[in-house]
Amino acid sequence: MSSIRLDKYLADAGLGTRSQVKEYIKKNKVVVNGVTVRKPDIKIQTDKDEVLVEGKLVSYAEFEYYMLHKPAGVVSATKDDKDKTVIELIKEDKRRDIFPVGRLDKDTEGLLLITNDGVLANSLLAPGKHVDKTYFARVSGKVTEDVVTRFKEGIDIGDDTLTKPAKLSIINIEEIETGFISEVEIIITEGRYHQIKRMFKACDMEVKYLKRISMGSLILDEKLGCGEYRSLTKEEIEQLKNIHK
Ligand code: URA
Repeated sequence: MSSIRLDKYLADAGLGTRSQVKEYIKKNKVVVNGVTVRKPDIKIQTDKDEVLVEGKLVSYAEFEYYMLHKPAGVVSATKDDKDKTVIELIKEDKRRDIFPVGRLDKDTEGLLLITNDGVLANSLLAPGKHVDKTYFARVSGKVTEDVVTRFKEGIDIGDDTLTKPAKLSIINIEEIETGFISEVEIIITEGRYHQIKRMFKACDMEVKYLKRISMGSLILDEKLGCGEYRSLTKEEIEQLKNIHK
């Protein structure tokens, strides 16, 4: 059980900034367990107290977990001066402290976990944790067995070290007027900047389309269209938390 100040509780629940929610309290709009309260510092037991703002029950969750099907054109950040962020796609009442777990490039689509659980994020992202990430890609050129071997052995993409072994599987190769287009699945365990694009570039190929399908035990829900999201199920959260056990 955790107990926190009323103003923090309301702000965390997405009702406004700390000063905005203090105004609600001052204006007698907040009722806790049937009693109108006037002090922002009273303690709320998050698991049992009932809090109403203007008669509406506040739904509070210490942690929120969303699976987003990221569309191309939005950035994996909490704030951006120029571009729309993935956080702006999460429309319902939400905590103010949610963030994307890792980054997908602006033009990459697919699975992105969004949460305010820093411990879980760290366990999925920390270097050395090696969580599998699966991607589907369409690349220009013909992916040969030689390229598959290079991915497996590690590639020099200009960093201090070679990439860790990656599994590249060929799904389909199509001949077009200007050459070939290959459809592939890639499993990597790292998350270096533009990693997959740079790995193909080192093999003289260009990624034309990239979509993340899974991260650890979490698999993109096929029912989610581009730009759609849903909360994780209890099982999905538990499986992610147990990923290194
Ligand atoms: N690799 C990339 O090149 N881009 C991504 O968005 C993810 C992995």
